[in-house]
Amino acid sequence: MDYISNKSAVVFNIGCKVNQYECDSLTSSLISLGFSVYNHLVLATVYIINTCAVTSEAERKSRQIISRIRNINPNAMIFILGCASEKNKSFYYSQNVDYVGGTTDHTKIFDFLNDTNKSISTPPALPITTRTRAYVKLQDGCDKMCSYCVIPILRGAPRSKPIKDATREIYEMSKLANEIVLVGINLSLYGKDTNESLPMLFDKIKDVAVRIRLSSFYQDGISYKLLDSLFSLKEFSPHFHLSLQHGSVDVLKDMNRSYTPEEYLKSVSMIRKYDKNAAITTDIIVGYPTETDDLFLESEKFLEEVKFSDIHIFPFSKREGTKAANLAQLPADVVKKRRLELESLRHQLRISYLEKMLSIPQTVLFETQVDEIAEGYSQYYVRVYAKTTNKKENIMPHELYKRGLKGGVL
Ligand code: SF4
Repeated sequence: MDYISNKSAVVFNIGCKVNQYECDSLTSSLISLGFSVYNHLVLATVYIINTCAVTSEAERKSRQIISRIRNINPNAMIFILGCASEKNKSFYYSQNVDYVGGTTDHTKIFDFLNDTNKSISTPPALPITTRTRAYVKLQDGCDKMCSYCVIPILRGAPRSKPIKDATREIYEMSKLANEIVLVGINLSLYGKDTNESLPMLFDKIKDVAVRIRLSSFYQDGISYKLLDSLFSLKEFSPHFHLSLQHGSVDVLKDMNRSYTPEEYLKSVSMIRKYDKNAAITTDIIVGYPTETDDLFLESEKFLEEVKFSDIHIFPFSKREGTKAANLAQLPADVVKKRRLELESLRHQLRISYLEKMLSIPQTVLFETQVDEIAEGYSQYYVRVYAKTTNKKENIMPHELYKRGLKGGVL
């Protein structure tokens, strides 16, 4: 099957929101070249995979996807991008793929595909959106060197999108979507390399008429200056995904995280001064090699104290090339037992946050409809269900329902 005559492509993301943004941009460029583009594995002539190496599981999926594609189309053109390919280029080239682009050289793909003589705008065209949500990548790279993380090795030093480019892109995307999620590998490092800052950017976009939400954020980026500028936006989603990783001061030190639980709690209290109902979610690693029973209990207790609205729990994953990879790993059954304990705590915290939300009006961007019930996310990043056909509504929740709340139109 020759790709020239049949312009169909799959652009598939295995990783984070930054990967998704890159996929959305590539998809936009492919569409401008006349391709029909899919974001799940279907029969096509071209496959672009944005891989991930943040955990061994993600890396396994990245390696295995090539044989899955070959089962669908043995003659497919395959382009492998992203962190797993940056980490292990030789492996992917040994799989006879057409191109391995790592974390930086994505647009080279178009040297293979562009038979239209039309010039491809680099950087690629505005990323496609789902009409509800669009991602805008503000930043790439990280230099925090957390003991368990390979990202600084694979994505390099922090670099920011200049405010003028970011502002233009955000205004453009606000014409296409109801919510813009600002993404980066470590957003709290935004502007350090360009002598700019997030508050300076937010000042430029304060009139944007769609909802703005921050993706994952590092505690040391929280300041009154940042919070003033965020809460001055026309429509800001008071949801902070503030990555904690562990609740014990000793393990945080071992992880080379640059804050203590007390400092983290202080940042959360600062946020709650602006909105006492703000949604605070986080990532937690369970089973870090130096985590003893006591330090695990200390961490668990701290999670209760913060009263998170949700917790993403990750069993420790040994990453070659990191400091933590040289430490003796905990037995799998110990890690599993602790993970299950945190899962039940997560459930309790989620329920108590949802119960608190029962008296709080939710502004919901509806995304899907099943019969007469629409479903979408509120400004507090809560899933809300209601009888409506409108894309946006203010809803007063009256009951816990499925993974969120059900309510009536206000
Ligand atoms: S802050 Fe730490 S965990 Fe996050 S990308 Fe940087 S090194 Fe990795």
